Amino acid sequence: MIEALESDVLVLGAGGAGLCAALHAADASPTLSIAVVVKGLFGRAGCTRMVQGGYNAVLTPPDSLEAHLTDTLDGGGWINDQEMVWRLVTEAPGRVLELESRYGCLFDRNAEGRIHQKPFAGQTHDRTVHKGDLTGIEIMNRLTEQAQARPSIRAFEECRAVELLRDEAGRAAGALVLDVRTGRFVALRARATLLAMGGGPTMYRVIACSADKAADGIALAWRAGLPLRDMEMIQFHPTGLVIPGSLMTGALLEEGLRGAGGQLRNGLGERFMARYDAARMERSTRDLVSRASFLEVSQGRGTPNGGVWIDVSHLGAEVVERNFRGMVRRCRDFGRDLARGPVEVGPTAHFMMGGVIVDPDCRTAIEGLFAAGEDTGGVHGANRLGGNGVAESTVFGGIAGDVMADFVAGRTAPHDGRGRVAEVVERLTAPLERRGGDLYGLQRELREAMWERAGLVRDGEGLRTAAATAERIGDELGRVGVRGGPAFNLAWQDWINLSNQSIVARLIATSALARAESRGAHYRNDHPAASTAPLYTVRVQSRAGEAAVWTEPVALTRATPAGAGRVSSMVEVGD
Ligand SMILES: Cc1cc2nc3c(=O)[nH]c(=O)nc-3n(C[C@H](O)[C@H](O)[C@H](O)COP(=O)(O)OP(=O)(O)OC[C@H]3O[C@@H](n4cnc5c(N)ncnc54)[C@H](O)[C@@H]3O)c2cc1C
Repeated sequence: MIEALESDVLVLGAGGAGLCAALHAADASPTLSIAVVVKGLFGRAGCTRMVQGGYNAVLTPPDSLEAHLTDTLDGGGWINDQEMVWRLVTEAPGRVLELESRYGCLFDRNAEGRIHQKPFAGQTHDRTVHKGDLTGIEIMNRLTEQAQARPSIRAFEECRAVELLRDEAGRAAGALVLDVRTGRFVALRARATLLAMGGGPTMYRVIACSADKAADGIALAWRAGLPLRDMEMIQFHPTGLVIPGSLMTGALLEEGLRGAGGQLRNGLGERFMARYDAARMERSTRDLVSRASFLEVSQGRGTPNGGVWIDVSHLGAEVVERNFRGMVRRCRDFGRDLARGPVEVGPTAHFMMGGVIVDPDCRTAIEGLFAAGEDTGGVHGANRLGGNGVAESTVFGGIAGDVMADFVAGRTAPHDGRGRVAEVVERLTAPLERRGGDLYGLQRELREAMWERAGLVRDGEGLRTAAATAERIGDELGRVGVRGGPAFNLAWQDWINLSNQSIVARLIATSALARAESRGAHYRNDHPAASTAPLYTVRVQSRAGEAAVWTEPVALTRATPAGAGRVSSMVEVGD
């Protein structure tokens, strides 16, 4: 018998989006009961905590909402949902002030005592609000304290959502949740449910994002039949650490190192950016630098550990230690001296621009189901600007909280919604009953296939192979067992992760096949130019388990690019 619990609002995920949603719902209506389910530790898990660079918001002239809109569209290759972008840019200033004055975040000040805003690549004004280079920790600590101080918010820590519940009418009815510590399933019923599980391209070999993420939210949405968009758009960052044998491989060294004059060299000692962008060299755009490093390594000119070197030592050890304290400390932890010599780096999978289709009020196509943050698509189009990620999660998280509080008022609880629970539990617990199979071999195979075939440089044949590999791995998982019982069984959790990652990997490769051009973060060797056809987005949806893929024209509701089908130069983006 599966335990059942009830709340008014169920928030799945506790990053910037999830916590802002919970706080807004709680403050909109203090009598609501709000359940927050988080796969990791409350306040510690997910990517919002990892935010370094900062938060984009228009605070003072000459910056303007129109400029933030245009920069974001330009960065996104003009395939963004313009209404979503407008909502982001108009609400971000208020959210920054709310983070300070209501929730207690303290951002850096300038000499006049006003919030300091730093320049970030791809932006026409100094717009990025920050707390040193640890902005995410400040935001997450304060949001967590605030959530803990509200009795109506109950956290379910180290619990993971495994399936969405629906009632007979098809309305959202909550989620089936697995308590990782005990291995028990709980049906959490709710009148409104929010997907805020933060996407996460962890199906790639090298990653910068939080390893607790497995694109669970997108897989759940897919299984529930929701349409997704822009799944082909994966952002790679060029300077992830290369530390052989360490999980820290892929962790970011911030973009400012290149901005300050850092040089990139291949294994032969050549400043290889001269081959790809002689004018801008290391200050070239993020996607271009990532791709250049990838090509150097794949053409045999990498370092011994398959990376390239970043060198800032010529700036002087004292300068580097003063200006890049966090980066120096991070390197020192692994025996590298960033201030005095080169450090090995390489491209790392960073962010998913695509995801669940929502309207600017965070509503999905399923009644009672909402989505916010990196689980959604539309705001960033083909490329995310640095500083727009945490703005997106906190802005839309807050909106979702307000809208859900309104939505549940006077609405009866959906019916039981546990119809399919037995079937889902049986599927998920089956590996505990089996022996054999090579779970981690399959995990490695998926990561390799995605990195090599659906990564920085793609082509039709490679993408077909990646999609087929992901599908086969999904099938093979059905025969793989894991040792041990259900309580705190990390291999079992990895089995569930891999089954979701293989689904989302297939959607990435399939969507990338449908985009026969290069745009933003999506680069195809066999179609290296941007299409001159009218701008479109790629959509994908489960139809009886099969991926139905189609394209839809972009609605240019607020701004038009200069020239039909024009793609902005692939602008540099910060963290
Ligand atoms: C290293 C790094 C640096 C970054 N720097 C910046 C920056 O400077 N500026 C910027 O704008 N953006 C930055 N970003 C991007 C930014 O972090 C994200 O855009 C944003 O924080 C995502 O917020 P979110 O709430 O959607 O997801 P997250 O903050 O990732 O939260 C997801 C939550 O969902 C939980 N979860 C996952 N699966 C499940 C499940 N099955 N059940 C229950 N819970 C689940 C996780 O545990 C976590 O609590 C950076 C990202 C990285 C990786």
